[in-house]
Amino acid sequence: KNLLEVSGVHASVEGKEILSGLNLTVAPGETHVIMGPNGAGKSTLGNVILGNPEYQVDAGSITFDGADITAEKTDARARRGIFYSFQSPEEVPGVTLEDFLRVSKTAITGKPLKVFAFQKELKKTMEALQMDEAYAHRYLNVGFSGGEKKKAEILQMLILQPKLAILDETDSGLDVDAVRVVSEGIRRYKNKENALLIITHNAKILEGLHVDYVHVLADGKIIHTGGPELIEEISREGFHRLEEGAAQ
Ligand code: ADP
Ligand code: MG
Ligand code: MG
Repeated sequence: KNLLEVSGVHASVEGKEILSGLNLTVAPGETHVIMGPNGAGKSTLGNVILGNPEYQVDAGSITFDGADITAEKTDARARRGIFYSFQSPEEVPGVTLEDFLRVSKTAITGKPLKVFAFQKELKKTMEALQMDEAYAHRYLNVGFSGGEKKKAEILQMLILQPKLAILDETDSGLDVDAVRVVSEGIRRYKNKENALLIITHNAKILEGLHVDYVHVLADGKIIHTGGPELIEEISREGFHRLEEGAAQ
């Protein structure tokens, strides 16, 4: 049984079609990588799966865990276990990182939080991500460096334990050490039941991760799907040859 099925999705932003008949299927336990030229629609795909209302689905359907979620609101999708780590995480003045995590976790589980267990888990996870504990008490992303924002996203993923995590260029702008820490965080999250969709240009973050499928998104569609060997091929030759192949 599949966890996520995106079938024939056409989606538009401000009246302009960005996705034009996109199909993608993800089963529990799998890791999928999405690569593709800038402006191809990769972030649009993430937003559409999460149900960001700025992105309109004009045709096709999205099912998750056996339910049709095409018309569902973002918060309902989050409760089902979909997590999207934004390419550019927003700053939220007035809400500390710890508050944000506590509120999100309570909203998603629908159960009152066990405060001590939560704080212990938070501390442990921040340590693993080499984040200073003090960040828990700072306003979410406010004054965080690029790398710290990305670590905060991985921290959210580890605390919320979604069934599907979509990571959108979580490695962009990170130095080598931060990429290693983020990559370890991703490995820590992954298990046999959950799934990962990683949007990236960078093969480095994928080191040590078992990748099942690599998809190339261009012109609003998946134009090519292969195994992990595609990552190396694309780093070497770019998308050009694949795009030409798809156009024939
Ligand atoms: P990628 O992530 O592959 O670089 P995006 O999905 O961000 O591509 O963008 C695909 C196209 O959709 C681009 O032309 C971009 O300008 C447009 N687009 C994406 N999001 C928005 C938005 N919120 N408002 C207006 N245009 C958008
Ligand atoms: Mg881009
Ligand atoms: Mg993008």
